[in-house]
Amino acid sequence: MKNLIVANWKMNPNSQKEAKEIFNAIREGVRGLSAEVVVCPPFVYLAGLKGLTLGAQNIFYREGGALTSGVSGAMLKDLGVEYATIGHSESRRYLKETDEIVNLKTKEAFKYGLKVIFCVGETVEERDAGKKNEVLERQLKIGLAGIENLENINIAYEPVWAIGTGNNCSIEETKESIDFIRKFVKPATRILYGGSVKSENSGAYIKDAGANGLLVGGASLNPEEFIKIIKSID
Ligand code: PEP
Repeated sequence: MKNLIVANWKMNPNSQKEAKEIFNAIREGVRGLSAEVVVCPPFVYLAGLKGLTLGAQNIFYREGGALTSGVSGAMLKDLGVEYATIGHSESRRYLKETDEIVNLKTKEAFKYGLKVIFCVGETVEERDAGKKNEVLERQLKIGLAGIENLENINIAYEPVWAIGTGNNCSIEETKESIDFIRKFVKPATRILYGGSVKSENSGAYIKDAGANGLLVGGASLNPEEFIKIIKSID
């Protein structure tokens, strides 16, 4: 199975010009590399970026109509977007997305033939309380309830305490979590790691922790560093 490397730009950069510069540099740098690379920019930049697979950072779970601020699966599909990130911890936290909402969004993405990057992960409080596996199991069971085609799901294991903190999860602990997550998905489901990935730590998540890819936030806005990360697993 091909490794999947996802660039999550979050709410960056601040201009379309910069978005195009970063995107074009990534596009040139990944030529000839074997990983599947997906760039998830803010919605407003999706239409202006061409030449690499695009993913949305979220999706809404209604088909259209009276839903101010919503972006539907049909709109994403029409732009040629192939992936939707669902259940990112920042969306769970700031947009108050519950496991039930994450489930509706996943079903909506599938209705439009979008592939899903489905994020799970425990907070530091949950980890310290020894509840990591309980949290992962709940997120997976409720979030994926009623979904058959799990081969089109890519699970991103992202401990919340590791995102944007520089405190990346150890290889041993990541391996344990990936092995646990595997019990709830299909053999063809890719499981990614995300959380303060840099070129110095990226290779080991694939080679030693058994991840089938990476979800990269901050470092994906720096094309040189992002390309180094992709090369480290090639
Ligand atoms: C993320 O955006 O999901 C992420 C893992 O961010 P970072 O790589 O900056 O920790």
